[in-house]
Amino acid sequence: MTERRTALVTGGGSGIGRACAHRLAADGFAVAVLDLNSDTTKQVAEEIIEAGHEAIAVGGVDVSDRAAVNAAVESVRTQLGPVLALVNSAGITGFREFLKISDASWDKIIAVNLSGPFYLSQAVLPDMIAAHWGRIVNISSSSAQGGQQYMAHYVSSKAGLIGMTKSLALEFGEHGVTVNTIPPGFVDTPMMRESERRGMFGGSVEDHEKKTPVRRAGKPEDIAAATSFLCRDEAGYITGQVIGVNGGRNT
Ligand code: NAP
Repeated sequence: MTERRTALVTGGGSGIGRACAHRLAADGFAVAVLDLNSDTTKQVAEEIIEAGHEAIAVGGVDVSDRAAVNAAVESVRTQLGPVLALVNSAGITGFREFLKISDASWDKIIAVNLSGPFYLSQAVLPDMIAAHWGRIVNISSSSAQGGQQYMAHYVSSKAGLIGMTKSLALEFGEHGVTVNTIPPGFVDTPMMRESERRGMFGGSVEDHEKKTPVRRAGKPEDIAAATSFLCRDEAGYITGQVIGVNGGRNT
């Protein structure tokens, strides 16, 4: 990358978002690490700086709060310059029989997983349009490709994110902005381990490794590698795509 660009990674304090923040910083982006959790956000930004790259922590921000998102993006712009790459990784999961999903639970999951990327995208797209260059990578879920029982709220939020990705790709392609989505499957993160602990998995991690064509769980770095590629100049002809990174579990 010849010029210095700024990337903002939501959910950057943990799992896939953390790996994306590290990778984009190593690629030469100045990275804003945004998360609900202030401690982990600070820790990840410090790790990136210790590795010799540029980062700031934007902690305590709930992506489902539009005012907080707008204030956070404005702060990033002031400190690091216009935001030209956005990775929407912040997310929450849920596991409940469909007939027992409460309105509150439905609303919360849609707010974080779908409205969050909506607010973030609206906040940063003007920067990308002005620069005639931008990259948005939405972390959806392989569950939205095949459905998942007891996860209708989560799957619906992620399927919505895939639809938003395709729509924004059509709307902003002429401005040099690409919008793609990576639906991960079976990636070893705190979220995945929590799902295993709560019995949401239908077996152990080891059982699932045996059923996965590449015979291992994914690493957050696997998703970060694909994100890194999608954020490069040379990926400018890839937009509106669903790029599965799942060890061959969904083909
Ligand atoms: P993770 O380790 O739990 O990371 C998610 C991060 O998002 C956490 O740091 C969490 O902060 C943050 N977050 C949650 N709600 C937020 C909010 N309202 N505002 C701001 N930040 C918030 O999980 P992960 O596995 O890396 O998941 C990253 C993304 O990948 C998610 O969107 C998830 O749905 C998707 N995904 C993961 C897998 C997998 O196999 N791991 C599979 C499919 C899809 P707190 O810790 O403070 O809550």
